[in-house]
Amino acid sequence: MAADPRPRLEAGPDKDRLLLEPEVNAANSLQELGTALGDCQRCKLAGGRRSIVFGVGNSDARLMFVGEAPGEEEDLQGLPFVGKAGQLLDKILGAGMGLSREEVYIANVVKCRPPKNRNPQPDEIVACEPFLLKQVELVKPEVIVTLGAFATQVMLRNRVAISKQRGRWQDYHGVALMPTFHPAYLLRSPSEKRVVWGDIKLVMARLGLEQG
Ligand code: SF4
Repeated sequence: MAADPRPRLEAGPDKDRLLLEPEVNAANSLQELGTALGDCQRCKLAGGRRSIVFGVGNSDARLMFVGEAPGEEEDLQGLPFVGKAGQLLDKILGAGMGLSREEVYIANVVKCRPPKNRNPQPDEIVACEPFLLKQVELVKPEVIVTLGAFATQVMLRNRVAISKQRGRWQDYHGVALMPTFHPAYLLRSPSEKRVVWGDIKLVMARLGLEQG
């Protein structure tokens, strides 16, 4: 059997953290990972959620999108990016890239809605991020697109403004990562859509995709 050419997560402190929970580390599929997550009570966000928003899409996707955390609509439906920002993401995917939701994988850094949509706190990120890492390991995307400052800064372990790091290729455990603005920001600042389209074109070129 030919070796899978896509990168594996590299060993390191984040990977070591996954090893702390054998059931998480042993998951061989997203379904098994969801079972390991269970009715998760690993952080205080469990107390205010309606749903765990695990992630959705193709378990073998070449392209993965990562946002911050579920909002109200996502919490209600149990799916990521289903509010107005999600509709814009669908447009970027469909009209821009010629892709459907079913062809990509979409997840958030934390899986439960923070109260009043505040930013996730460090202890919540520490509790939940191993599941994101494991999702990346299982899906094995060729490219990750981080949506917005929060997801970008968490995944890249920096505090650099999104306006300074968007549009430049980064590395996440051996996977190419492209930061760009969050669709919610584009709803407030539509003139930045052009900038995001530039970032998306870089992603499409890397994946060999034709414009939709
Ligand atoms: S945010 Fe993550 S770690 Fe916290 S309760 Fe939800 S699933 Fe568990």
